[in-house]
Amino acid sequence: MSNKIQAIRGMNDLLPDQSPAWQYLERQLRALVERYDYREIRTPIVEQTGLFARSIGEATDVVEKEMYTFDDRNGESLTLRPENTAAVVRAAMEHGLLHNQTQRLWYMGPMFRYERPQKGRYRQFHQIGIEAYGMTGPDIDAEIILLSARLWRQLGMSEHVTLELNSLGSPEARVRYREALVAYFEAHREVLDEDSRRRLTSNPLRILDSKNPDMAEMLTGAPQLFDHLDDESREHFEQLKATLDDAGIGYRLNPRLVRGLDYYSRTVFEWTTTALGSQGTVCGGGRYDGLVEQLGGKAVPAVGFAIGLERLMLLLETLGLIPDEAKGGVDAYLLAMGDGAERQALLLGERLRDALPALRLQVHCGGGSFKSQIRRADRSGARVALILGEDEIANGRLTLKPLRDDGEQQTLDQDAAIAWLAERIVGES
Ligand code: ATP
Ligand code: MG
Repeated sequence: MSNKIQAIRGMNDLLPDQSPAWQYLERQLRALVERYDYREIRTPIVEQTGLFARSIGEATDVVEKEMYTFDDRNGESLTLRPENTAAVVRAAMEHGLLHNQTQRLWYMGPMFRYERPQKGRYRQFHQIGIEAYGMTGPDIDAEIILLSARLWRQLGMSEHVTLELNSLGSPEARVRYREALVAYFEAHREVLDEDSRRRLTSNPLRILDSKNPDMAEMLTGAPQLFDHLDDESREHFEQLKATLDDAGIGYRLNPRLVRGLDYYSRTVFEWTTTALGSQGTVCGGGRYDGLVEQLGGKAVPAVGFAIGLERLMLLLETLGLIPDEAKGGVDAYLLAMGDGAERQALLLGERLRDALPALRLQVHCGGGSFKSQIRRADRSGARVALILGEDEIANGRLTLKPLRDDGEQQTLDQDAAIAWLAERIVGES
């Protein structure tokens, strides 16, 4: 037992009982982004380490202590992607998708961060993200927020999430703010914890994000970024808020929302919930106008967000919002008795699937008594058992035995049985 190989800590298997709910969620997500004409981009799971170090920022938690970095056989440093915005920018630049054009892109897949595993926080987790390029105005910021708000409505969870909103201003405004902030923190040095003291020189804005209760009071008095915003960023933010107001999207202004990645400017936002304990951020995003240039391209305005799918799934489960039809399962279970019955069952199974593309059918394999087969049929969750005995085979008939609430057992010609299944089990269409 002790030397059995197990999954890596913080990395989850998705078992067959769980996958239907995930597939349901993924279907909802794909359908939604397509309705807004976002197009999918798939990039590799590993990238050169430098891509993340240069984009996310050397002094961020992610780069400092959360990346899965290793040398490949040529000694090149590679990293399992901790997030995907940098990789999307890399790919879009590499393939000329950003040149004199706008792009609306989305991705979905696994991300990797070496964090302490706990509920809602894993070492391999999944995100869906969208990224929009080439648009400077607050209209596109509003669009992606409206898209996310529609998602919560579509999933039935709008009243359980709150939109938090802030503006980080221009990089210049941020430099000015940073000075004011450092001066304030220096004056309160005795209250700062170890992490924060370290960040004082590397990433003082991130101190605002601290969850340490001993620092809460000191942080409340800290200078606010909003008072240091440049005029253009202020105007951008006002317009975004006005659009959200008109669209009826409520939000909470959170001057301490800075996000954990260095590349953001102007708009930043998070959707949070109180239903998941301390891992309450379901979606985070913002504008990152400087990133493309920072990675060696011509400056291109950009805005995007990422949703943590495990957290979203936990929330849907907690709130009981996974619909029954998303739970998967089989419609019919075909069993067979008698000489050569197994082969007849397989052939009939194929015929049924030809005639009824929407039918989910399991054909019993491996023989056994009628009793054991019918028990398997019942356990499969099927609504109806299809029984092929010697008589049925000889006469081209099939016995239908409803297992739930669909009426009496009956033996029909196979064509009539198909019609019955079409009507009663898979619905007409
Ligand atoms: P947190 O403050 O919770 O650590 P973050 O700011 O590091 O989040 P982002 O990099 O903005 O997160 O990622 C966007 C979303 O991805 C988060 O809001 C969250 O839903 C999800 N996420 C991030 N890290 C993890 C993780 N280790 N496990 C599960 N989900 C995660
Ligand atoms: Mg984090």
